[in-house]
Amino acid sequence: SDPQPILKVENLEAWYGESKALHGMNFDVREGELVTLIGRNGAGKTSTLRSIMGIVGNRTGSIQFRGKELIRKRTYQIAQEGIAYCPEERAIFASLSVAENMTLPPVLRPGGLSDKDLFEAFPNLHARRKSGGSKLSGGEQQMLAIARILRTGSRFILLDEPSEGLAPVIVKQIGTQILRLKEQGFTIVLVEQNLQFARLVADRHVVVENGQVVDTLTPEDLSADLDRVKTYLGV
Ligand code: ATP
Repeated sequence: SDPQPILKVENLEAWYGESKALHGMNFDVREGELVTLIGRNGAGKTSTLRSIMGIVGNRTGSIQFRGKELIRKRTYQIAQEGIAYCPEERAIFASLSVAENMTLPPVLRPGGLSDKDLFEAFPNLHARRKSGGSKLSGGEQQMLAIARILRTGSRFILLDEPSEGLAPVIVKQIGTQILRLKEQGFTIVLVEQNLQFARLVADRHVVVENGQVVDTLTPEDLSADLDRVKTYLGV
């Protein structure tokens, strides 16, 4: 039997000021699962991650994580519950070294990877540990953005378009890292426009349109009906 969902999003609505971005999102994520949010630009994928993390203007509905309601919690409390967020812009501090960037997020729970483990898992980052953040390639920045949240001890990760702007060979490396996290039991919600990449790593795809979930697809559905999926994405 399927494990119970550890994240349950119900009727989630979100606003930026007067402007409504989410119109009642409903989806679940089970322990150890990798779920993608796919859909065209402006559909509400990023806003969904930001709403889970409590960084939109206002939100209503329900976000239950391991049985606890997050909808009225603040961002730091949500992080303490064990959810980590890796934003699309990666948020690497240009004036700090790789090693300094790595140690920025606080360790919030037991079970986080040590610096030694991280540098073993990301040998490129070890080679560049003294380089400034501004000297990194896009791929190295993305690796660093993922590596540093693994220190916090969170086992539930929200990843926004890690493949964005990267060369195919680097996208493959990121995919390998993400699959490794999945093997280690991390649960991941991934926003992804790159269908090839999404297919490689995901257990399930949640299709977002106009701030709502309009479909849920297995990898088999996606492969069988790629044309339909492409119309969802407007590509
Ligand atoms: P993209 O891939 O382009 O980021 P998305 O599916 O992640 O697309 P969101 O970024 O979540 O979509 O945007 C959902 C809606 O919210 C869009 O209508 C967008 O214009 C609006 N929106 C997003 N960020 C803001 C903001 N900071 N202020 C006002 N409106 C915003």
